[in-house]
Amino acid sequence: MNFLAYQPNPDYNKSAMNIDTPYYLIDERKLLKNLEIIRYIRESSGAKSLLALKCFSAWSVFPLMRKYMDGTTSSSYYETRLGYEKFGKETHSYCVAFSKSEISSASRISDKLIFNSVSQLKQFYPLAKGKEIGLRVNPGVSYSYFDLADPARKFSRLGVIDKREMQKVLPLISGIMFHFNCENCDFENLSANLDYISCNYADVLDSLEWVSLGGGIYFSRSGYPVDKLCRRLKEFSRRFKVQVYLEPGESSITQSCELVTKVLDIVRNRINIAIVDASAEAHMLDLLIYRLNAKINDSGKGKYKYMVAGRSCLAGDVFGTYNFRHPLKSGSIIRFSDAAGYTMVKKNWFNGLQMPSIAVKRLNGRIDLERKFTYKDFVGSLS
Ligand SMILES: *Cc1c(COP(=O)(O)O)cnc(C)c1O
Repeated sequence: MNFLAYQPNPDYNKSAMNIDTPYYLIDERKLLKNLEIIRYIRESSGAKSLLALKCFSAWSVFPLMRKYMDGTTSSSYYETRLGYEKFGKETHSYCVAFSKSEISSASRISDKLIFNSVSQLKQFYPLAKGKEIGLRVNPGVSYSYFDLADPARKFSRLGVIDKREMQKVLPLISGIMFHFNCENCDFENLSANLDYISCNYADVLDSLEWVSLGGGIYFSRSGYPVDKLCRRLKEFSRRFKVQVYLEPGESSITQSCELVTKVLDIVRNRINIAIVDASAEAHMLDLLIYRLNAKINDSGKGKYKYMVAGRSCLAGDVFGTYNFRHPLKSGSIIRFSDAAGYTMVKKNWFNGLQMPSIAVKRLNGRIDLERKFTYKDFVGSLS
């Protein structure tokens, strides 16, 4: 079977069954919905959007994303290089702490280098000269449902806090980055925090050319007041005469991917437990980190209840408990939705389980199997 240019029949469900499970299926038409919002924000507010690679790095859909976004931002040298090689356009490079050996390489391929601290800025400024330099600032206000992901949590190391320290290095930088949101769908909260930032950093902002407002603004969530956001961004940009950047990760790709799995066995321990050919621990790790259940499309609608669990030997490797319309049996297909953000980038070889393949449903409906992982990849991940 030729996996590279797999031509399915027009029936999506049937054709997808011809690819061996488990696999991630990225759907370009679903992706496009988010990308069109991004383009709309760009057109009506002037804010540029850079894909945050730490959330999503599946480069086989970059050719589509590139048409709607302005480039990438990264949290390490490897991500910077991936953005430069596979996405192109504008390449921003940030890291919580760069090492000296990375800085020259990152500097060669980046349009902007953003430092996390004044000490890193001072140390590496001579090596990064000629590039546009930025500083990450912790504004002290944030929005996050989880403390684990709160950029302004107690003792946060993310960004400069001391304003006087920052003012002393202002001549060295042309912009700053505030990343202070995580899945923030509350526009009023964002607006209030922008007021706070505008007021508290007015003098600094006046002397800059660009400001990145980071990621975590959930503008692609249904019902989000996108026009209000655009007006707010435009106002901010005009007031301080800065180019505004957004760094959407989750918002760029939300709801655009499924993890397609197959039931291998059904066991019973007071309840029915369906074991699938994937693993939450290895293939949707954030579920366990944030103690969430995976979403599945037909959950809650039927009378057949199963706990769906992964096949790693971790006792708590559970995707969730769902009500199915039909009894499950060995061979039943289960599709976990929303498997793009912070999912594929975190997959790992725990237990040596078969790594899900990566398939893409193109805009024209064709399904391409882009990558299949083998024993060789497992061996190659260690030595
Ligand atoms: C994580 C992160 C992003 C992307 O955040 P999302 O919540 O996925 O939109 C953008 N910028 C920085 C600096 C980040 O750390």
